[in-house]
Amino acid sequence: MSGAISFADCDLKDAKIVFFGVPYDSTTCFRPGTRFGPDSIRDASYNLENYDLFLKKTTGGIADMGNVTPTTNYEEIREEIGSFFAVMGKRFPVVAGGEHSITPLIVEQVKKIHKNMHVLILDAHLDFREKYMGSSHSHACSTRRTSEIVGIENVTVIGVRSASEAECEEANLEYFTSFKVKSKLKEVCERIKEINDDIYLSIDMDCFDPSFAPGVGNPEFYGLSPFEVRTIIESIGNMVGFDVVETNPLFDKGNTSCLAAKLIQEIVLRV
Ligand code: MN
Ligand code: MN
Repeated sequence: MSGAISFADCDLKDAKIVFFGVPYDSTTCFRPGTRFGPDSIRDASYNLENYDLFLKKTTGGIADMGNVTPTTNYEEIREEIGSFFAVMGKRFPVVAGGEHSITPLIVEQVKKIHKNMHVLILDAHLDFREKYMGSSHSHACSTRRTSEIVGIENVTVIGVRSASEAECEEANLEYFTSFKVKSKLKEVCERIKEINDDIYLSIDMDCFDPSFAPGVGNPEFYGLSPFEVRTIIESIGNMVGFDVVETNPLFDKGNTSCLAAKLIQEIVLRV
């Protein structure tokens, strides 16, 4: 694997934030390759300053635990993620995927610590299928599996512009389309500010328009811009964990990994 992410400045014992990668893409249905996401994001992070001139802050207190052992087996990935959480304890997790099916596995760990938790998901897709291509752990089911862990009333999806008819009928959860974000960004942000519970944030890189982030498994146009996502992040209250998933360097000229690294920088500066 590559070296540690550029923001890593300390060992686990001194860290308040832990970064690790989950190179898993077993159920990817269209263009596999997100298993290469974590190391590609680490490489891209060396393009960034540790200082943010808008926030006037420098990153710090971050340890990189490396990647979980790669496997194509979902139960083994669950165990791997569980063993990383056992070591990192209550530190703030920042996880790079891998495909979106890892999110429920992280959420079930964070939920053990933060009982009243709302999950905010940025995604082009609803990911609310009961099963997809024979698997209930497909990345097309990640929002549904997550809602089973925290309760459907504690999930909000932002940036949606693709779903099946059945998903639309069954998804009795709160979601905002990308068109809503474009026309009513302030309104969407006001709603996020109303969430008093701890917030876990999951960013599927396909929430962005493919013109910004082409390196994803399932590109979908009419997407969000980095500015809009930054504004959304700024309206989040108490964040307790973060993952960025679906970065696929095989379909990228580096932009998607750079954007994913930038999001990680944004988040660690706000912890
Ligand atoms: Mn997704
Ligand atoms: Mn998606």
